[in-house]
Amino acid sequence: MSEASELLRLQEIDLELMRTKNTAEALPQRQKVAAARAAAKKVAGELTKIVGQRKDLEIELADLDDSKRFFSEKVTEIQDGTYNQDFRSAQDMEYNLATLAKKIEKCDYDTEHLLPRLETVERAEKNARALTEKLEREEAAQVASFKQAMDKITEQVKTLAFERERIVADLPASIVTSYEAARKRFGGVAVETLVGNRPSACRVALQPSSFTDIRRSGAEVTTCPYCKRILVVTNEEA
Ligand SMILES: [Zn+2]
Repeated sequence: MSEASELLRLQEIDLELMRTKNTAEALPQRQKVAAARAAAKKVAGELTKIVGQRKDLEIELADLDDSKRFFSEKVTEIQDGTYNQDFRSAQDMEYNLATLAKKIEKCDYDTEHLLPRLETVERAEKNARALTEKLEREEAAQVASFKQAMDKITEQVKTLAFERERIVADLPASIVTSYEAARKRFGGVAVETLVGNRPSACRVALQPSSFTDIRRSGAEVTTCPYCKRILVVTNEEA
């Protein structure tokens, strides 16, 4: 490979490396993973609230159940005559039984009203858990896809870096130094070729005298008189 071809290839490699880096940074999986995580966090917050509501309802229902059992036991005790309180009269006992019956009725009434609310909350909890699992699967799929894409990119970068190393080792150190300086100054495109009498990057037509000078020197690698990029002059582009 001539110095000119090596320089052009070096430039191609560096531009490809830049593109690859941009591709890696713009991989859509990154955003999708972030979105899935944000959504999962939101669902987790909702789930905590829902579980709290469900537990409160369960406690209320358990309390009602306990109360009902307590009142029912009292009724049984009164009916069996084992109740540890003497009633002054039959009316007194009837009154107590009626009061207990009302209390039991109230427990049943409250329970009936709480059960549909518990069902609603349980359904919401089930949905939130299903959504959490779905988001976890989505995140895992995106993470796997991201890893796959990154592995491919890493492989490309490795291959390019290997070739680059070989070219840099092959080129004279002074050319590599000028190339690196120009690359830094121009943000990538350090080398231009001559297309007719126009350098490919700055596109300023060379003065006939410059053009003749460059041609006459026979040098394949020179400096653009305008932008000071490295100018590659090959016979194919003449
Ligand atoms: Zn130029």
